[in-house]
This record gives sequence, structure tokens and C-alpha cells, in this order.
Amino acid sequence: MVTALLLLLAWGMLAYRQASLLSATLITAIILAIGSGLGQVAPAVWLIFAVMAVVVNVSSLRQGLLSRPLFKRYRELMPEMSDTEKDAIEAGTTWWEAELFRGRPDWQTLHNYPRPRLSEEEQAFLDGPVEQVCRMTNDWEVTHERADLSPEVWAYLKEHRFFAMIIKKEYGGLAFSAYAQSRVLQKLSSVSAVLASTVGVPNSLGPGELLQHYGTRAQKDHYLPRLARGEEIPCFALTSPEAGSDAGAIPDVGVVCMGEWQGEQVLGMRLTWNKRYITLAPVATVLGLAFKLKDPDGLLGEQEDIGITCALIPTRTPGVEIGRRHFPLNVPFQNGPTRGHEVFVPIDAIIGGKEMAGQGWRMLVECLSVGRGITLPSNGTGGAKAVALASGAYSRIRRQFKLPIGQMEGIEEPLARLGGNAYLMDAASMLTVTGIDLGEKPSVISAIVKYHLTDRGQRSLIDAMDIHGGKGICMGPNNYLARGYQGAPIAVTVEGANILTRSMIIYGQGAIRCHPYVLAEMRSLQEPDPQQALARFDQALFGHLGFAMGNLVRSVWLGLTNGRFSPAPIKDSTARYYRQMNRFSANLGLLSDIAMASLGGDLKRKERLSARLGDILSQLYLVSATLKRFNDEGRPAEVLPLVHWACQDGLYRTQTALDELLNNFPARNLARMLKPLLLPYGKPLRRPSDRLDHQVAQLLQSPNPARSSLATDLYLTAEPGNPLGMLEQALRELIDAEPLFNKVVHALGRRPFTMLDKVAEDGLAAGLLAQDEARQLAQAEISRLRTINVDDFDPLELVANKALFDDSLLNKAA
Ligand SMILES: Cc1cc2nc3c(=O)[nH]c(=O)nc-3n(C[C@H](O)[C@H](O)[C@H](O)COP(=O)(O)OP(=O)(O)OC[C@H]3O[C@@H](n4cnc5c(N)ncnc54)[C@H](O)[C@@H]3O)c2cc1C
Repeated sequence: MVTALLLLLAWGMLAYRQASLLSATLITAIILAIGSGLGQVAPAVWLIFAVMAVVVNVSSLRQGLLSRPLFKRYRELMPEMSDTEKDAIEAGTTWWEAELFRGRPDWQTLHNYPRPRLSEEEQAFLDGPVEQVCRMTNDWEVTHERADLSPEVWAYLKEHRFFAMIIKKEYGGLAFSAYAQSRVLQKLSSVSAVLASTVGVPNSLGPGELLQHYGTRAQKDHYLPRLARGEEIPCFALTSPEAGSDAGAIPDVGVVCMGEWQGEQVLGMRLTWNKRYITLAPVATVLGLAFKLKDPDGLLGEQEDIGITCALIPTRTPGVEIGRRHFPLNVPFQNGPTRGHEVFVPIDAIIGGKEMAGQGWRMLVECLSVGRGITLPSNGTGGAKAVALASGAYSRIRRQFKLPIGQMEGIEEPLARLGGNAYLMDAASMLTVTGIDLGEKPSVISAIVKYHLTDRGQRSLIDAMDIHGGKGICMGPNNYLARGYQGAPIAVTVEGANILTRSMIIYGQGAIRCHPYVLAEMRSLQEPDPQQALARFDQALFGHLGFAMGNLVRSVWLGLTNGRFSPAPIKDSTARYYRQMNRFSANLGLLSDIAMASLGGDLKRKERLSARLGDILSQLYLVSATLKRFNDEGRPAEVLPLVHWACQDGLYRTQTALDELLNNFPARNLARMLKPLLLPYGKPLRRPSDRLDHQVAQLLQSPNPARSSLATDLYLTAEPGNPLGMLEQALRELIDAEPLFNKVVHALGRRPFTMLDKVAEDGLAAGLLAQDEARQLAQAEISRLRTINVDDFDPLELVANKALFDDSLLNKAA
């Protein structure tokens, strides 16, 4: 008994620590020796142990007896992967998310990543040109009157190289860090979604990015300086009517042939395409085009179907059709279709030259991870921060039933979501750009933030709308919500529509890329030398078994103890969040192995399982980003309610995903066994409490350090034309006016908090207020009315087709 117990304990600890096979063998031998000393170990046990020890530790024996048959079976079971799938899986790098996947996150590693900072030049750009272009942009004029940015704003953007944030200095670009790009986009998106998208797209995946990575010297020298100076406006066209999410299925073609170009016969391609939804296409001067290249006459080599290829085509080339526009949800950034029929261009139009023919898909997926981690998450975060502040201010100013609506519990709930989400989203955006600035191309993380930050951004807009009631609905120059609300589905749809990103991409890529052994096992299948292949498989397999055992033991122990004794880098009220993440991280590693082992290739089709596994990974990323931000910023006690809210919400969602995964796991008996092991006390984690919601809601309603932490890098300057800045000013003015109002009503009797100018007059007349105090109160009334009032219009102003309006008037008169 003693020996058996000792063995169990030792194996448990060895598995928990994922010890090597050799250490496990040695420790087993020592315990058996102790057992022998106590007379408890029969010689047969030693014999079995000796045989097993030799087999598992001598690699040639292990490979021959154990790994070879398993390798054969593995080869049969593994589903065939298309080249596009292979490219997608191999693209990019893994970073902090891989640590979260492995069951034992090293929190010190997270805390040691540098805090993102702006250089002096970047800060000056943010305070100078960015502030200025925000001032120049009137979103109502852009969205309602012009359906475009003004010519002055376009010119300013080009002149100040807004389209060249990713272009290197040697080509005249700004070469900003990912962090700086993110802050610029956040600020622009707090003013106008059209402005933020117009700047975001050329700095994301497109000609600039592709040229820098793959362009020939001649292409770089020609295009990059022109793009940097804004002399070229780029767009990139991949999507066609028949190929949206399934972008690899584009029907657009190029045929290699000889043709006439500038009076000479040259080798080139005849391109036929029909693309839609292409941002900046209507005004582009250079069209990045993805198409399938064919070489029926063997002019480039022996391969007839060369594959997806990317080329750059000047839009003035005869036959290129651009100019028509789509109308995306009343957020009229330049977006439209482009078509071409048998347009001839020289072969040098291929990005990277003819050597890169057929490499287009790899180029796109490799570059996608960086842009996808910056543009849409930053725009979503800027929007969410802005509407959190606006909703807090409005809730304090708007009164019903004689109370600021923000004091009502019903309003506190969405307000708390707004505050907590804004803090978490900014944290996730910061951690992601930190990784990018460290040189990572984090394909899994960029999918996580693309989905979760655009999703939370959209939900924040819904909450803000509900809080604002009619004020949010009635559109006009003073409405700071409605266009963002209308346009939120755009961010959800583009660069990988969210349902697809959640169901397939995050975990589909994450499972293979973040798992420490699965990719190595898969790669062993590609190894041409059979001996090498077996050796690689064997090494990965035994590492994998140790990993799985470790996660099983860790999951059971951390479940039983609720993670209590597991490591946390800091011993304060946030320690429990690190410990819960230790637990969920082990669960994720374990469940991944179980899902892959029991479903094999079918896991790819079980999208809802994949989505929930991806949710666990995603929430762990978002919560860890929150804790990292809190730590980076010096752990200020004032923001703790935001941190608690974000962590509790994220961990509650993790628990829900885990529970639903087990409830829906196809291998029912296995799931029934696992549930009491992983959730031995049911679901102990709770959503943020009403009390915590109340604290967060309060923070949003008056100036304080926590509120200021949500206001960083937004355009909040108080000036006419910036309703958000004016609202912030109104909040300050009304808070300052409250003691003056109270002084008057205390002396002259109760009255509602309206007509403050009248209250000011009465207070002045009664000698209760000094002149400047009365002025202050009257000014507060102007701001209060501006805050609660909405725009109204002459009917003619709202009619797009004025001729129809006149006709109907004439008809009525007749
Ligand atoms: C305003 C705007 C700007 C854009 N800009 C550009 C641009 O500049 N360049 C460019 O090339 N493209 C651009 N796009 C295209 C964009 O990337 C596509 O819209 C996107 O890839 C989705 O394609 P789709 O709209 O055809 O949706 P579909 O592919 O038809 O998808 C419809 C729904 O099905 C879901 N779905 C699809 N497959 C799966 C699956 N396997 N599992 C689960 N769900 C699935 C999707 O998530 C989505 O919810 C833009 C689109 C818009 C709307």
C-alpha cells in the first residue's frame, strides 16, 4: 500500500511538472527500491518495470515497438490538407497565446514584455497632424452631405503621410510602430469611422505592405515613395461575388501570354476580374489584384495552373473599371467594385516579379496577421472608449424622475459593461501591438482581437444607444453615436467575418500552432526520409503524451483546489485571476488533446466545439492582457473596479465556454467523466456583481483617474463641431454647477434641475450667487440643453433627390 501510494503521488507530481521520461524512470526506481526494502515489491514488478524502462528510454526500441505502429495509424487518420490550408496554418508566429495554450502560463514572461511607448516623433504626430485632421473633419458633413471626406481633409492626409505609417523611412514613409498606428487610429475613430477606415486600409494589408515584403527593387523604388507622398492611392482587391469568406476560391483569372505594351511585344498576362466591396477602389490609382494565374502555353515553365498571384495595376491602364461605389451602412468611405476583361499587363506587374507567380495566397496570409492585429481592433477600441465616456457623461447629465439616469440600477448594468469592455479592449489592443512591435506576426492573436474587439465594440454601441434613448437615434451634426452604431457590422464582416473567425480560424489555427507537439507530429508526415520521419514523430509523440498527462493531473488538482495553490506573480486581489487562468489553461490543453484524439479530422467540421475551445483561449488572452496593462501602469488602485470587472467577466465567459463544450461534446460518456473532474464544484465563478457594476458605472460619470485612463488618445478637445469634446466639457460644467444650484435651492426651496439660467437669475437677485457664479450656472444650462437636445431639419434638407420633393409639392398644390 505504502509503495503504491508513494508511486501514485510521485507520478502525479511528475506529470504535474511534466517531468522527462528519464526522471520519471529514476524516481520510480527509487520508490520501488524503498518498497523492496519494506518487503512490498515482488520480483515480477521489478521485471515489468525493467522491461518498460528499457523500452521507453532506449529510443531505437521505443520507435520500433511503440511509435512505428502508431505512426502508421496516424498517417492513415490524418485528413489531407489543401495547399491553402497548409499556408494558412504555417503563416505567422505564435507568442503569448501559445503559453496560455500549454497549461502552465509563465506569468513573469507576460509581465516582462515591455510596456508599449510612443517615440517623441510619434507623440508629436498624434498631438499635431492627428489632432488637426480630427478638427478638420465634420462627420455629419462627411456622412450625410458629401458622402466623402472633404478635399481639404484628403489633401491634408496625403501631405502629412497618413497613408504611409507602415512605409519605411528610406522610401519617405513614417515607419511608425504598431503601437503608434494603433493610437492614431483610435483617435481618428473617436471622430469619424470614414476617416479611420480611409487611413486604416492603406496601412493594413494592401499594396504598401505587400511591396515592402515581396516587391522587387524596381517596384519598391517606383511605388513606395509615391505611396508615401500620397501621389498614389492604393486598394487591394481579393473578394469577388462568388468568393467572400472562401477567398481561395476566386474565379478571377490571368493567362500568361505575349502582348503589346507601350508599343512593344512583351511577356505579360491577360487579366479578367470582377471584384466587389473593395475599399478605396473608386479613387484608387493603383489596384492590387489577386487572381489565379494560368500558363497554358508554358511561357513561364511547365506548370499550367500556377495558382493565386498578386499584381499591381495602375488604374489608368486601358480596360480597368473603377469609380462606381457601394454604400456601406451610411458610413460612406470609398468602397466599390472593380472589373476588367482581358486587360493586358506586363509580367513585371506581379508583386515580386515572375518568381512570385503563384505565391499570392502565402503572401496574403503571411501579411494578414499584422494588419489584422492593428486596424480593426484599434478602430473598435477607439469607438468603444469614446462611447463609454459619452454614455457616462450623458447618464450624469440626463435626468428623468428627478434623478440622473446614471443613478438608476437598470442603466448601471450597460454602463458597467461599457466601462469594463473599454478597459479590457484597450488592454488587448496594447498587448497585441506589443507583440507586433517585438517582431511577431501573431496570426492566432490577430484573429482573437479581430473577432473579440469588433464584437465587443459592436455590443458597446448597442449599450450606448440604449442608454441614450432618442438622443442616440435622431441623427444630425450633434449625434455622436448613430454612425458608429450603423457602421459596426462593417468591422464585424471584413478581414474574416466574425462567425467564421470564431468557428474556424481562432482555434483551427490555434490548436495546431500553439500546441507544443501537434505541428511537429504533422510535419513528421512531410519528412521524406522514413527513418527521420519516424524519429521526429516519436519525439513529438512522447512529448505529447507527457503534455497530456500533465494537463490531466493539473486539471484535476487545480479543479479540486479551485486553483488556490497555483502560482500567481502578485499577491493581491488580482492573484485569484491568475490562479483561475492556470486552471483553465490546463483544461484547454487537456480538452484540446481529447477533442483531437476523439474526433480527429472531424474536429474541423465541428465548428461549435472549435468555437468554444477558441473562446477559452480568447478569454484567457483578454484577461491576461487586462492584468498586464494594470501591472504596466503601476497597479493604480483607482482603476481596480475596471480590472475586476474585465477579469470577472472574461473568466465567467471562460467557464461558460468550458461548461457548454462539455455539455455538447459528442463523446458523451467521456464528457460525463470529464465534467466532475474539471468542474468538481459546478460553476463557481460569477458574473461581475451588481455592486461591482455600480462602482464601474459611478467611475464613468465624473472626472477621476480611472475615467481618464479610458480617455487616452481620443479626440476630446472641446470645440464646436466636436460633439464628444463638447459633451466632456458639459460634464465638467454641470458637475461644477451642482453646488451653486444646491446653494440656491437650499435657500429658495426645491425645484427641478432644469432652467439653470433662471435659477442663476434668482440666486443673483437673492444675493446668494456672485456675478461669475451666476454666469457659470447659466453657461451650464446652455451645455445641458445642448447635451439633451437633438437636431431637427427642414424637410427639404433630408430629401436626397430634391427634384422628387419639389414634384410632390407641385402635385399637392395641383
Ligand atoms: C465594407 C467592406 C469593405 C471591404 N473591403 C475589402 C477590400 O478592401 N478588399 C477585399 O478584397 N475585400 C474587402 N471586403 C470583403 C470582406 O473581406 C468580405 O466581405 C468578407 O470576407 C466576407 O465575405 P462575404 O461578405 O461574401 O460573406 P460570406 O462569405 O458570404 O459569409 C456570410 C456569412 O457566413 C459565414 N461563414 C462563411 N463561411 C463560414 C464557415 N466555414 N463557417 C462558419 N461561418 C461561415 C460568415 O462568417 C458570414 O457570417 C470588404 C467588405 C465590406 C463589406
